[in-house]
Amino acid sequence: MEASLTARDRVGIQDFVLLDAYTSESAFLDNLRKRFHENLIYTYVGTLLVSVNPYKDLDIYSKKQMDTYMGVNFFELPPHYALADNVFRTMLSEFNNHFILISGESGAGKTEASKKILQFYAVSCPSTKLLNNVRDRLLLSNPVLEAFGNAKTLKNDNSSRFGKYMDIQFDHRGGAVGGHILSYLLEKSRVVHQNHGERNFHIFYQLVEGGEEDLLRWLGLERNCKNYRYLQGDCAKVSSINDKSDWKTVQKALSVIDFSESDTEHLFGIIASVLHLGNLLGIPNQVLQQGLTHRKIEAKTEEVLSPFSVEHAVYARDALAKAIYGRTFNWLVNKINESLVNQQDSSRKMVVGLLDIYGFEVFSVNFEQFCINYCNEKLQQLFIQLTLKSEQEEYELEGIEWEPVPYFNNKIICDLVEEKFRGIISLLDEECLRPGEATDLTFLEKMEEKIGGHPHFVHKLADKNTRKTLERGDFRLLHYAGEVTYCVVFLDKNNDLLYRSGKEVMQHSKNAIIKHCFPSSEPDNKKRPETVVTQFKNSLVGLTEILTSKEPWYVRCIKPNESKQPKFDDVLVRHQVKYLGLMEHLRVRRAGFAYRRKYEIFLQYKALCPDTWPNWKGTPAEGVRCLIKHLGYKTDEYKLGTKIFIRHPRTLFATEDAFQV
Ligand code: ATP
Ligand code: MG
Repeated sequence: MEASLTARDRVGIQDFVLLDAYTSESAFLDNLRKRFHENLIYTYVGTLLVSVNPYKDLDIYSKKQMDTYMGVNFFELPPHYALADNVFRTMLSEFNNHFILISGESGAGKTEASKKILQFYAVSCPSTKLLNNVRDRLLLSNPVLEAFGNAKTLKNDNSSRFGKYMDIQFDHRGGAVGGHILSYLLEKSRVVHQNHGERNFHIFYQLVEGGEEDLLRWLGLERNCKNYRYLQGDCAKVSSINDKSDWKTVQKALSVIDFSESDTEHLFGIIASVLHLGNLLGIPNQVLQQGLTHRKIEAKTEEVLSPFSVEHAVYARDALAKAIYGRTFNWLVNKINESLVNQQDSSRKMVVGLLDIYGFEVFSVNFEQFCINYCNEKLQQLFIQLTLKSEQEEYELEGIEWEPVPYFNNKIICDLVEEKFRGIISLLDEECLRPGEATDLTFLEKMEEKIGGHPHFVHKLADKNTRKTLERGDFRLLHYAGEVTYCVVFLDKNNDLLYRSGKEVMQHSKNAIIKHCFPSSEPDNKKRPETVVTQFKNSLVGLTEILTSKEPWYVRCIKPNESKQPKFDDVLVRHQVKYLGLMEHLRVRRAGFAYRRKYEIFLQYKALCPDTWPNWKGTPAEGVRCLIKHLGYKTDEYKLGTKIFIRHPRTLFATEDAFQV
């Protein structure tokens, strides 16, 4: 007994719900810290998994490790794969769809966690030749998308610069039969500009560093990043990144995912063209030159070419580079999806969705980060709705006695951003509709006028007392995860204009991907396309719909320090524990019921009561009453409403164990 207590003191507790002492924030933190120092980076809060980025390789992800998890009860082994396994088993027993929401700030370990989960499924599900093919494609879609969509930032050497939702489709036996990926708002401005200490997307460096001599010659590229304006950031080489070997991995992955030789030729032709925008798109030089230096204006009966100023020409070139890269990225996602299409004509398929989106960024300041942080607000809101709010509402509805747990609801911030007519997005779009008149400053003034008094919005005056001074042209939002100051260069990026002349030039291309991405039937600028932020907002509505139709599971990732080292910074972790709502979640979980099952599903255990079944004739509710009486559940262990609520996971597991014997 004493020995086990000592061990417990050393390694902490693997589920916060299980121990009485762990209700204060300090105790919560102590437990996380203890476990972190023992390399136990995963801890439960009920069925929610908290993960702290170890910033070092741990020997816990081997095949042998995975095998020990398969089909084992959630609480019998240390956390991590158990969550993935539990989702899988619930899906197979209840024939329904699930999603795993992986959240946390930039560098917290979301992408790594999502890859580990995918690997677990790849190894654990049944295997046949066909299924292995799907499995390999699912796995290899990762290095490809990361090459094109991830980049080194100040926060993370492999930061996701796009949002990714991936459905893994399973047949009724649990075989992975297909998949589908949705991508969200790639930060394409990175193609033409990177902040100090950051890089462009990995693929550019992979090509320049790792591309074969012949290929580079054919593409007219030199093996020196410094020769390319778009790669002139100050950190082409990063110690944690091996562009050469990553290039090889991507090549291999592309061949497994069905990219033909001409697909890859065209793809890298584009990447090279973006680098020295011009001589490889298969567009006659003269046409391209004119397209980049002149704008087409429609006069009454004729079209007139008006020359750009140098500044404008640079802008038009950058806009084109961004459009080419952004559209190629979408093409890439579609191409991967084609290769993941479910080949089996199974009538019934179930999915586990994995959501790995760009993390909240506190120190970055521009339009893209505004979109990223808005997205994180929306996901936090979804989390609140699906856990704290709905949990408490359910108890009320079921007539279960309940002491409400207070929590910060970030709906107020979501509204501030997206409310019709007076939210920031509306005001921004309104200004974008006044070309020539509106500027970033008029947008700021409009915000000051309409939302100046909002408690989560700070612009100039309101900031006097406690907060740092804001520059002219800045505003600050008090996000759920912290304050962020945005420098307003918003209008241009929200309009994302691509001159018609640039678009038309692309239609002369002989490159099949470019042709596909710039179809000649595309509506021209006369019809106003939706602004970037509105498109993004709508795509998030779509995402929410996808998610709310499935059963949710959560991985909350925590970043232990700002220096990417295996160290545990109390202040930083405490802040995340706070804003991730983990204490509230714990309180609701501790006070509530860990498990709930529909009566029909709970009756799967009826064989434990052979005297009554199979001749039972009553309703499922009566059946459950009879069953739990037989099983000897104590009255404080469960509640009956429209389903059965079980307070403690152990109660259910004891039943499950008895059932399996
Ligand atoms: P972003 O929002 O910027 O995309 P993220 O949350 O996806 O950030 P990751 O890219 O998953 O962060 O993790 C950042 C880095 O932390 C990884 O490149 C890796 O070095 C390290 N890391 C994260 N999780 C683990 C882990 N489980 N084991 C070892 N190292 C890890
Ligand atoms: Mg990531």
